[in-house]
Amino acid sequence: MSVESVVGLGIPSVNRVRGFSVADRPDVPVLIDRFGRVARDLRVSITEKCSLRCTYCMPEEGLPAIPAQDLLTPEEIGRVVAVAVHRLGVEEVRFTGGEPLMRADLVDILEHCSQRVPGIPLAMTTNAVGLEHRVDKLVAAGLTRVNVSLDSIDRAHFAELTRRDRLPSVLAGIRAAARAGLRPVKINAVLMPETLHGAADLLQWCLEEGVALRFIEQMPLDADQEWARSNMLDAQNLLDVLSTRFDLREIGREDPSAPAEEWAVDGSSATVGIIASVTRSFCSDCDRTRLTAEGTVRSCLFSDDEVDLRAALRGGASDEELAQLWRGAMWNKWAGHGIDAADFVPPARSMGAIGG
Ligand code: SAM
Ligand code: SF4
Repeated sequence: MSVESVVGLGIPSVNRVRGFSVADRPDVPVLIDRFGRVARDLRVSITEKCSLRCTYCMPEEGLPAIPAQDLLTPEEIGRVVAVAVHRLGVEEVRFTGGEPLMRADLVDILEHCSQRVPGIPLAMTTNAVGLEHRVDKLVAAGLTRVNVSLDSIDRAHFAELTRRDRLPSVLAGIRAAARAGLRPVKINAVLMPETLHGAADLLQWCLEEGVALRFIEQMPLDADQEWARSNMLDAQNLLDVLSTRFDLREIGREDPSAPAEEWAVDGSSATVGIIASVTRSFCSDCDRTRLTAEGTVRSCLFSDDEVDLRAALRGGASDEELAQLWRGAMWNKWAGHGIDAADFVPPARSMGAIGG
């Protein structure tokens, strides 16, 4: 069966379908699942540690530490990324965490990857704390893009949301990233009642700095498990607030599979985006595969089904054996997150422990 012939099987409304076996998988090298989706975008978490404690993500005390020997080394990350690119068709790699800047060997990780997969974009999602001091070395090692998380440009409000008074360092990091050539710098803000009142100021700041802002709906992935559907804001709540200061014109998605819907701001080329992961789920277009910091493959944020690549890697598996394990993991990917289902249960890992 060709890849094309299995695309478009349709996504059922339940998040799990039983009765499929890896034996039914077509013999194609790419990461294809039972619903015909093909993963091209790899998210690699490299640590559970973080310099902030965002309330929608981390518990106040931080996540339990992963023993050092359980983390993939820079060499191992480079090898796994090479398997993903050369044998599985991955086209973009993004490092995340926890906070990737907490890894002292981040330059080493980037160097291993850029040497093994030259030409493949190596991006990073970061809170930018301390980035200004390291960005030049990271770019020299192969970093090509950054997305920075920033929910408020009011210092006291930022400290409340992140439980850390680090806004000046974040802003310096964003400016340093743009200076270092990592354009377009994209800013991610989580859309929630606590961030709504500062949303227009945040957009104003992003317009002045020439960085692109996207709001992401809050997902039930907080370590404290306090997320409630009834507290969720949606795109309209945000548009109502932003429209009091800006003229917004809907321009839709960059391409049909892009997660962000975009609005042009004040008739200019500047845009603001909304990623409605909960209310307008894009699971049917999902093209992601994830590797946790401990070296397990996770095919969906919301499914705790994981396949252990690290054990295979350290047990002497060949590249093709690793690729085959990964293909099997992807084949069993859930149809969707199922947040709206009556029996929805949040996953055991929170966002910071998976890698957003
Ligand atoms: N520390 C880095 C950062 O904050 O950008 C990378 C890891 S963080 C887990 C990745 C992304 O997940 C961030 O953009 C963050 O805002 C987002 N995130 C964390 N918890 C979330 C939640 N409950 N719902 C939606 N997005 C969330
Ligand atoms: Fe840290 Fe990022 Fe989670 Fe905030 S969202 S606590 S910066 S990992």
